[in-house]
Amino acid sequence: MKKISIVGAGRVGETTAQILAETELCRDIALFDVREDVPEGVALDILQSAPFFKFDGVLSGSNDPHILRDSDLVIVTAGFPRQPGMSRADVLESNVRIIDQVTDHIMTHAPNAMILVVSNPVDTLTYRVAQRTGWGRERVFGQAGVLDASRMASFIAQETGFSTRDITTLVLGGHGDTMVPVTRFCTINGVPIAHFLSKERIAAIVERTRTGGAEILALRKNSSAYDAPGAAVAAMVDAIANNRRRLLPCVALLDGEYGETDIAMGVPCILGERGVESVVTLDLNAEERADFQRSAQAVRIDIERLNML
Ligand code: NAD
Repeated sequence: MKKISIVGAGRVGETTAQILAETELCRDIALFDVREDVPEGVALDILQSAPFFKFDGVLSGSNDPHILRDSDLVIVTAGFPRQPGMSRADVLESNVRIIDQVTDHIMTHAPNAMILVVSNPVDTLTYRVAQRTGWGRERVFGQAGVLDASRMASFIAQETGFSTRDITTLVLGGHGDTMVPVTRFCTINGVPIAHFLSKERIAAIVERTRTGGAEILALRKNSSAYDAPGAAVAAMVDAIANNRRRLLPCVALLDGEYGETDIAMGVPCILGERGVESVVTLDLNAEERADFQRSAQAVRIDIERLNML
């Protein structure tokens, strides 16, 4: 990709920019934010780490949305993070206004871009961006499950003492308390985690995954998570930039898959240079299906609220 823009030069936006620059996933990275001078400052700060990491790409920042022009991919991290005690849905009203404005900027300045939504509530806001742009689902998608799966993998690693390199996890559904960690597909180098962990320990890991974001928020107090979220976004960018065609859980618009239509939520997708190439439909068992439907119901409540705003 020739150019990637990041909207929102806050914590998640900055972390993402730093990783993308360091790993040279793109040589032209632009940051846009409404806070005066901040995106320039962030870009300059990251550029000054270049001699350590030996990257030589271009980073720029601006309060002018023209900076988005000709982006191949726009990553949207603009918006309020939740405060301790709040759910992701609690920031819907304020963030939808921001996301609408940002979407209009992208349509004006980067009409051929793909859009990766990070701002919360990410399922509902991905849906909103898809509705507002009218662009196909391959070009408008969101990040949630890559982060949730990495949280789960790190909990399994802590519990078993095994390397995270060998741990594969899958988390579907909405990016909230109803998310669906699918333990049947969680393995340690192909060996189901049930071989190593009791039912009770697995249930505890599932619960900790569901509340993983809130746990960090409660500990950090004045910030929600951004290190792992930035890394999760970078993993998705890597899949796109290098056309890896990875199977990753993405927030995608559903068109009948998993029995759901007119909704965006986390499902396994093939992610490559054209964005979401396809949604992979898994044969869920009755319990997993019920959990997925419950999660879809929670996302729908937000979408209905959105439609009334
Ligand atoms: P932050 O407050 O550090 O940064 C948000 C930035 O958005 C700020 O710099 C703000 O000035 C900017 N902004 C606000 N309105 C804007 C507009 N109209 N145009 C451009 N920029 C605008 O917050 P953060 O910790 O970086 O989190 C950002 C968002 O990402 C939040 O909604 C948070 O909940 C979400 N998030 C999502 C995930 C995920 O997995 N999907 C993970 C972490 C955080």
